[in-house]
Amino acid sequence: MNAARPPERGPAAAEAVAGRIAGTVRADIRALAAYAVAPAADGIKLDAMECPYELPETVREDIARAVRDAALNRYPPGGTGALDQDVRQAFGIPAEAGLLFGNGSDELIHLIVQACCEPGDAVMSPWPSFVYFDMAARFDHARFVGVPLTDSLELDLPAMLRAIAQHRPKVVFLALPNNPTGGLWPDQAVQAIIDAAPGLVVLDEAYQPFAGQTWMPRLPALPNVAVLRTVSKIGLAGLRFGYLAGHPDWIAQFDKVRPPYNLNVLTQAALRAVLRHKPVLDAQAARLRADRAPLAAALAALPGVSVFPSAGNFVLARFSGQPDGNAVHLALKTRKILVKNFSGAHPLLAGCLRISVGTPAENAALLAALQDILRSH
Ligand SMILES: *Cc1c(COP(=O)(O)O)cnc(C)c1O
Repeated sequence: MNAARPPERGPAAAEAVAGRIAGTVRADIRALAAYAVAPAADGIKLDAMECPYELPETVREDIARAVRDAALNRYPPGGTGALDQDVRQAFGIPAEAGLLFGNGSDELIHLIVQACCEPGDAVMSPWPSFVYFDMAARFDHARFVGVPLTDSLELDLPAMLRAIAQHRPKVVFLALPNNPTGGLWPDQAVQAIIDAAPGLVVLDEAYQPFAGQTWMPRLPALPNVAVLRTVSKIGLAGLRFGYLAGHPDWIAQFDKVRPPYNLNVLTQAALRAVLRHKPVLDAQAARLRADRAPLAAALAALPGVSVFPSAGNFVLARFSGQPDGNAVHLALKTRKILVKNFSGAHPLLAGCLRISVGTPAENAALLAALQDILRSH
């Protein structure tokens, strides 16, 4: 909120506002809880898959110079040109593919649903998965269909194929690896979904740098697939930049619903400066990837804790004894360690906490806290 709050004018004004909102704002929006973003706290933040490493001084200096020289008096240039070339080169986008840039990949998810879905059309994803697939679908009047994962949180391919035949989804979102479970669906299963889907299949590779696998090179051979990526999980969450790669004719359709100038001048300038140091980002991702297995193993060794296989920069752990997931989440919070609690989010996630891989010191502090919490109960 930008404006200062007007002086309080008493309950009558509040009632008048409430009445007007009730008659104006969509009922489904009024019934929603706002997307919860935890306030930045001191302590250890392992709840949002951010990169725990700061950029080195040399890179920051390059960013400062680029931002200083940015033309803030001008509207940002369109999404082609120099930035386009830099992104293609840094992230291995096939020359044949078109590219669309978003203010975070969340915005691109919206644009896809807006462009594809009439009211009531189905948007589908295995479930649980990234909550924003569901939210974007609802906001854009589509009908979200979540197809439950198996009890061991793996893709249920037969169920997916049945649901595709039944609901004929305009868009299928597949997060590869999946958030919040960490699983990476097998290529053959993904291909079977691509073959069966009547519309577009969006492969959301937000965690691709930690999986070491990608569909990107196969894109030119797949007429109904687009690959979605973000820089948020590789050290640039504050920048708000995502990109969608697909056949240029698909991209041209989505570009029509893109808000003009969605990518601001500062983001563009900073991103181009950072991409000149791409090996720094790669090294940070490699470090997190290497630290994932030891963290997962140490968590799995705790009493009553099981860990699901993860190809991301996080692990999902289930606390099936006492204290339960909710209590462990709270106990960590009082020790100023933030993780994401999925205990109440879905029956398949009972007792589950999602923990980002942090620095070695952060991981050690988390494990020490958990040992203490589980022992002292
Ligand atoms: C974090 C995440 C995103 C969101 O990325 P932004 O670019 O920060 O909007 C998209 N998809 C998945 C699966 C994610 O986990």
